[in-house]
Amino acid sequence: MSTVVPKPRKAFEDGPADEAQERLPIAGPAEVRRAFVRILADDRGRAVQVLVLYLLAAVFSTALPVLLGQVVDGIGAGWSVARINAVCSVLVGCVAVQFVLSRLGRRAGYRFGERAAAQLRERVVVRVLRLPLDRVERAGRGDLGTRTAADVNTVADLLRDHGPIVATSLIEVVVLYAAMFVIDPLLGLAALVTLVPLMLAARRYLRRASGAFVEQRAALSEAAETLSASGAGSQTVAALALQRRRRDLGYRRGEQVFGTFARVVVLQSEFFMVLLWLNRIQVALVLLVSGLWYFEGGLTVGAAAAAATIAVRISNPTNAVMTHLGEFQQGAAALARIEGVGLVESAPREAVPSGSDLRLDAVTFGYGDGPDVLHGLSLHPRPGERLVVVGPSGAGKSTIARLLAGIDRPRSGAATLGGVAVGDIGVEELRRRVVLVTQEHYVFTATLRDNLVLAAPEAGDATLLEALRRVDAGWALEAGLDVMLGDEHRRLSTAEAQQIALARVVVADPDVVILDEATAGIDPASAGRVETALAAALAGRTVIAIAHQLQAAASADRIAVVEAGRIAEEGSHAELLAAGGVYAGLWHAWRGE
Ligand code: ADP
Repeated sequence: MSTVVPKPRKAFEDGPADEAQERLPIAGPAEVRRAFVRILADDRGRAVQVLVLYLLAAVFSTALPVLLGQVVDGIGAGWSVARINAVCSVLVGCVAVQFVLSRLGRRAGYRFGERAAAQLRERVVVRVLRLPLDRVERAGRGDLGTRTAADVNTVADLLRDHGPIVATSLIEVVVLYAAMFVIDPLLGLAALVTLVPLMLAARRYLRRASGAFVEQRAALSEAAETLSASGAGSQTVAALALQRRRRDLGYRRGEQVFGTFARVVVLQSEFFMVLLWLNRIQVALVLLVSGLWYFEGGLTVGAAAAAATIAVRISNPTNAVMTHLGEFQQGAAALARIEGVGLVESAPREAVPSGSDLRLDAVTFGYGDGPDVLHGLSLHPRPGERLVVVGPSGAGKSTIARLLAGIDRPRSGAATLGGVAVGDIGVEELRRRVVLVTQEHYVFTATLRDNLVLAAPEAGDATLLEALRRVDAGWALEAGLDVMLGDEHRRLSTAEAQQIALARVVVADPDVVILDEATAGIDPASAGRVETALAAALAGRTVIAIAHQLQAAASADRIAVVEAGRIAEEGSHAELLAAGGVYAGLWHAWRGE
């Protein structure tokens, strides 16, 4: 039981094929803002806790310059040693409290970030699993893979690391500026002078960088798509001698990635140079104004010293905020892609079929904007019968299977199960009644039990063992349901994987099974065993088998011959042979007569 992979011929063409893929949507700024607010609101208790801890830590940290200033003035005013010691003790106490508060804040920040990141991961998985299968196929592995892995990690990094740093730093900046104003409003104003150019520079940088970050992520996802397709299709690449083309395409994608990174680095270097100079100018201005103001008698030495210390200290959190602004943008770009997954429109699938009568009535269908590949085709498998669909390659047999399984919807006409459109039936309800088995038999890295209960979560061990017996999987019965499957554990042969897929069919117990060349990948030595397993798994069900070998057709209850998207003939093997039409021609050719 498995999904349908895109046709290799499409996936391995250069440029146009990649364009043929339809990337998932990307959410707009308003949706991204909503998503951020939702993330904060989901754990608002902890978010408030983090902010309060950081705020208190920042207040205690400003005690250092302020108290130092007082000590300086105190010495001038002839304070006793005991008094100076007392103030210095308070100062040390403040530093210690600030240290503890910021540690607690950071810990709470990490907790908040980890929890939020975990929730985001879960949400992404749920959304991806809800995507219509045809949409997943069109999106391509790279796009989905980058969104569910790299993009989620980027947002997780933001929530866990950069977010708390920016929050602390921002709070510290505000508190330090406020302290400067408290020491002397004139010094506060002097410190603020550089804030305006700083804001302008940051705005300019963010505006330019935001486009660059989006491009960077898109280039990364294109590169991932190309590399994963080359890797997954390495046999096809080798068979068609496409190595050079795939390598060149890989280099091109790599260059695109490099180009986007280089752009970001140039933008960052320019911005940080401006930042450095603004910091220096700010410190110089505060020193100049406090010096002049001191000589005018408006300021004590202690206050001037405190102001100078604050001016120097402001640069640290300011730089931290600015340094991490980029991560915020990256995070926003990643979140836009993650939220985009949820924007894929899919009509609610809530129809409930009455019965399991599956049929195609005058369906027309084509892929994407392409031409029709099925032309007013009707097919009605009778309940309990074994209907075999044959025809030349490219005739539309797999497309018929996809329409019957509800993966694609017809352009016109109807694909119905129990009187309602197959595409309108809830996926779980549909899979209880109709199961599609293709050549791709995916075995999850999990126990044998987990691999089987996918098909029916409520199934008990007795049902699972019985299913394995039905498909003659002696090796599985011997290994037990707790055996771990998957490449790092027990690697299965194609025939064994096929048995697992068929056992899933038995466990799922659907009324209708669609086999799309399900045994094509099996070696002839195991074919007999698999055929027996297949017959056992399918007993009593309606079976629609897409056959590439006419041998399978001879024993069918009924044969439908498809040619160029139309049913050319229908009937039993004997009837069609007697009719002397397309099927008879194919049969004689196949038999070499
Ligand atoms: P068959 O199973 O009989 O070999 P298919 O149903 O796979 O035929 O294909 C029918 C037609 O649809 C062919 O012309 C094929 O090129 C086209 N086709 C199949 N899959 C896709 C796809 N994913 N995108 C575009 N065209 C496709």
